[in-house]
Amino acid sequence: MSLELLDDFQESNNPDGYQACYNCGQTNYDKITFSFWGGMLGPKMFNHVKCNSCGSTYNGKTGQSNKQAITIYVAITLIVGLIIGFFIIQL
Ligand SMILES: [Zn+2]
Repeated sequence: MSLELLDDFQESNNPDGYQACYNCGQTNYDKITFSFWGGMLGPKMFNHVKCNSCGSTYNGKTGQSNKQAITIYVAITLIVGLIIGFFIIQL
């Protein structure tokens, strides 16, 4: 496959102009609209996409793994949940 053809191929699969997968270098992904860790908001916040070639999930804007961002997001969600739960118990 020539470089030109590869460019066309990537463009057709990449309407958002996102970065290639950090793991395998392919630009062939599906946007994730819902995840167990972030519901519908989390994946949107982190431009979370799933690579169709190797199955890795990553940030489409940066092309890097979202693991750190997800860890922080989940930690904040848990803390906020605990605080809200604490106040509900006090009522
Ligand atoms: Zn990949």
